[in-house]
Amino acid sequence: MFPRMIIDLNKIRRNTEKLVDMLSKKGIEMVGVTKLFMGEPSLARIYLESGVKIIADSRIWNINRMKKMGIEGPFMMIRIPPLSHIPLMKDVVKFYLISEPEVALRIGEEIKGAKLIYMIDVGDLREGVMYYEAVEEIESVKKSLKNAEVIGVGTNIGCFGGVLPTRENLRRIVDVAKVVKADVISVGGTVYLISLEKGELPKEVNQIRIGEAALLGTDVTGSRKIPYLEQGTVILEVEIIELKIKPSVPEGPIGYDSMGRKPVFEDKGRRLRAIIALGEQDINPSGMIPLDEGVEVIHSSSDHTIVDVTDAQKVLRVGDILRFQLNYSATLRAVTSPYVEKVWLK
Ligand SMILES: *Cc1c(COP(=O)(O)O)cnc(C)c1O
Repeated sequence: MFPRMIIDLNKIRRNTEKLVDMLSKKGIEMVGVTKLFMGEPSLARIYLESGVKIIADSRIWNINRMKKMGIEGPFMMIRIPPLSHIPLMKDVVKFYLISEPEVALRIGEEIKGAKLIYMIDVGDLREGVMYYEAVEEIESVKKSLKNAEVIGVGTNIGCFGGVLPTRENLRRIVDVAKVVKADVISVGGTVYLISLEKGELPKEVNQIRIGEAALLGTDVTGSRKIPYLEQGTVILEVEIIELKIKPSVPEGPIGYDSMGRKPVFEDKGRRLRAIIALGEQDINPSGMIPLDEGVEVIHSSSDHTIVDVTDAQKVLRVGDILRFQLNYSATLRAVTSPYVEKVWLK
């Protein structure tokens, strides 16, 4: 059935092996992040077979799914846990990224042996105690914590504010780690590979949480294809349901589209336009990269995507399939759509 996504686990395996090898030479442990593929168990298995020692996900639903399918973990919860989810994590999750004293203490009460990594915000403004308030907060949590242990400090950049790693923001976390005597310094995500390549990652950093690099071979924050990894791990195939020559600019006054946006159209005259059977419910259309030459994605509504195929090399017909590579956000939405079939190439 179309639309379908073909996910090449062989490429992902080779990417992971390369990363694990490269990182371990520098004394850095790779944590394998599965959230992009909703905790797909076959992916977790490939991570583990490639030398990853900790599997991480942002949602307990995904971790439970892996556990049920026989993945032993150990698991790391990389979204700071909602208090209401803590009872669900007992006996399942070993490592926790946290940023609230109340959460730390509750985990300590309910989950014996939990290992906590205290998140420090070095400027991306997502989770974590601000770096200049970190020592005080972490020391105070350590004093009152029972049964669980703060084993390290961590930070996340690139995901929310799009902040890039610098010598300065790296220094910030290492400085805190020294004062609070943290054994683990955990950074993420993929964008930190840039620091490693440039030799800017302090030697104290001993863990990187990575998803995108292994899964897509790209770094969206650093805006690059990672040269030593493989891309094209995910291919989307979608069927053409209408193929007609039409003007390139709509007729009549323009209001807002179905997504509440004001669309802008460039007048290229009459064009051959294909409608393919998927839309905003399944995809972020701006992250679709056509694999057929001369094909351009124009715009989507909830269930339809318009593609300009005037310059396509192939002669197309209704019922034909167009193929696309996907960036991170397009992959995320397509994976999560129940209307897109997933084919896992092993
Ligand atoms: C998503 C996430 C990662 C992995 O990021 P990638 O850029 O996909 O490698 C690491 N850490 C945390 C806390 C995350 O939320």
